[in-house]
Amino acid sequence: MYARCSKRIKPDIAAQVRTKAYNGAMNCLNTDVPALQRFLHNHARLVVITGAGISASSGIPTYRDRGGSWKHSAPITHQEFVSDPAKRQRYWSRSLLGWPVVRDAKPNLAHRALTRLEQLGHIDLLVTQNVDRLHQRAGSAKVVDLHGRIDQVRCTQCNANTSRESVQWRLLRDNPHHSAELAAPRPDGDADVPIALVESFTVPPCEYCGGVLIPDVVFFGGSIPKSRVAECNEAIASADAVVAIGSSLQVFSGFRFCRLAGQLGKSLAIINPGRTQADALANLKLGSDCEPLLQAVATGMSDGAIPSAPGSPSCTSDGG
Ligand SMILES: [Zn+2]
Repeated sequence: MYARCSKRIKPDIAAQVRTKAYNGAMNCLNTDVPALQRFLHNHARLVVITGAGISASSGIPTYRDRGGSWKHSAPITHQEFVSDPAKRQRYWSRSLLGWPVVRDAKPNLAHRALTRLEQLGHIDLLVTQNVDRLHQRAGSAKVVDLHGRIDQVRCTQCNANTSRESVQWRLLRDNPHHSAELAAPRPDGDADVPIALVESFTVPPCEYCGGVLIPDVVFFGGSIPKSRVAECNEAIASADAVVAIGSSLQVFSGFRFCRLAGQLGKSLAIINPGRTQADALANLKLGSDCEPLLQAVATGMSDGAIPSAPGSPSCTSDGG
């Protein structure tokens, strides 16, 4: 936002805009930190749901903008992947270039703050819609990868599992002219690739049976294993509240847990700078950037901070 402003207006005015935006963000944090501390104080056992927004500052792009709309063309669907060899060619040609972005990403302060809150006994279960494994790499132990994990690949025929990194080696070996300079990274290990490169791309088969390889993730239009959903439902049933972080909750897989929380009489807090599909269900909506907010709250809880009296409502409760 700052860069866009500074291109169009004089530097001194750009500085004022930056100052105003910075002050606005600080005002949000000033009210949102104690609000979230109070929420945690009043709800000892939490189920936390995270989305792409929590991994954005780790360098992994998000699918949707602050209004919840697609930033690019919609991602590949499960049906397209399993039924169309050309779609698989397109997927793997892009994945070859996008995978290193996810592989080399590091957990940020928000991931680490949630790990700390788990260690302090506040989080019963962390349900993530992300496939990047950054929560586990930050040290969180009780994590459900709702949409699977991008670091693993399985065969659709013999079900053999293999690491994404070993598939990467085969992709590079079989496609030596696929230059990383031609691509822009996209979410979930995806990237933009010119059509000519896609059409000449060699897709490796399963090493054991020659079957079709598929990343161990739930594509759009695919279904989440029932046992995985049941584990989340059970955790919500025995928790005091649900906290959704960094997700527009546009996809039913995440939204249904917010709805379930309401049906079971549990409280719901949402931390997201933009609108979410579950805003109307939330008892608390905070618009601060999740990284400084969670870090401040986790540090305060570690120090045994007692939440102050309720202040003014969050400055971004309209969804920003
Ligand atoms: Zn196989």
